[in-house]
Amino acid sequence: MTMVAVLPGDGIGPEVTRAAVRLLQAVRPDVECSEAIVGGAALERGLAPFPAQARELCDSADAILFGSVGLPQYDGKPLAERPEYALFALRRDYELYANLRPVRVLPGLEHASSLKPELVCGLDLLVVRELTGGIYFGEPKEQRTVDGVEEAVDTMVYRAPEIERIARVAFESACGRRRKVTSVDKQNILETSRLWRRIVNAVAPDYPDVQVEHLLVDNAAMQLVRRPAEFDVIVTENMFGDILSDEAAILTGSIGTLPSASLGTRTVANGRFGLYEPIGGTAPDIAGKDVANPTAAMLSAALLLRYSLSDEPNAARIERAVERAYADGVRTVEISQDSASALTTREFTDAVAGRL
Ligand code: NAD
Repeated sequence: MTMVAVLPGDGIGPEVTRAAVRLLQAVRPDVECSEAIVGGAALERGLAPFPAQARELCDSADAILFGSVGLPQYDGKPLAERPEYALFALRRDYELYANLRPVRVLPGLEHASSLKPELVCGLDLLVVRELTGGIYFGEPKEQRTVDGVEEAVDTMVYRAPEIERIARVAFESACGRRRKVTSVDKQNILETSRLWRRIVNAVAPDYPDVQVEHLLVDNAAMQLVRRPAEFDVIVTENMFGDILSDEAAILTGSIGTLPSASLGTRTVANGRFGLYEPIGGTAPDIAGKDVANPTAAMLSAALLLRYSLSDEPNAARIERAVERAYADGVRTVEISQDSASALTTREFTDAVAGRL
């Protein structure tokens, strides 16, 4: 039986994850959804941020549906004692190396963008970010004193197989889209980028129908706000991807609508093991008020169906229901132009479920 580990986490995590599970079970009643506590919810019960029970559940699952983790009272503690450690451990232990962030403007939300509506009209891109290598993980990584002077060092290192596997994720994704890959690097300065570009070019002939372009990261940052609708798939290393994926996300105007997938090396019965989550955080300012926008969690469930269960029809079914709801003017309060008609999280979920 297909099993999804549901890790709602903290803040608005449980509220929006509940909405996503509802849609998942509506389209796939055969999928078993089992829940475990992580993050601050676990710390408050005297457990570790990623407790053994959650790990066992994930080990036997086909995919993880994640909410978000983080509570203000743990700010300033060492990473291993903070809720965010759960996410760190999941990425590391399941080698979730490919972070996919689809960025689309939902119908009627063109005006929510910080760019002119005509620039974001038709925007539909996918950022593929390498998530387990590069400068965030390279060694040495330390602060030290040399000849009485303080200095700090971070190391950016990539091995060819790490680049090849993420490039393949990008090319394969492009095959199901508009068949264009933009690889972003800084090859005029960085050796890692020279290797990156060489490997991407070596992989490209395996996907003859996909057009490849290379952009330097500074130019890519500019083009994203100048001609965002022209991008299809953007593939880049960890730090560039961290920055560019947030820039791309804000083009849509609402953090509550954007899902993400983090895929690992493990294969499961019908696809690839992965973790699916909204890009936003725990939103402590609105937690428990039934006002959070569950769209990102719902669309994360769609990505789970697509990548881990290879169930494209039901993934598309959820995406279409969300789009229809937006086209019909259904809104939660943070993007509603008229707060009197804004729906609660539960009402919004009913509205989408009714359009499946
Ligand atoms: P945040 O994304 O939680 O909130 C930023 C703003 O966006 C807030 O005003 C919030 O109300 C709003 N917002 C976010 N999601 C929303 C939604 N679905 N509907 C409506 N409004 C929404 O970012 P933050 O305030 O910087 O971080 C809060 C906590 O979340 C921190 O502890 C942080 O570490 C954690 N965090 C976790 C993750 C994760 O689990 N992946 C990601 C980012 C931040």
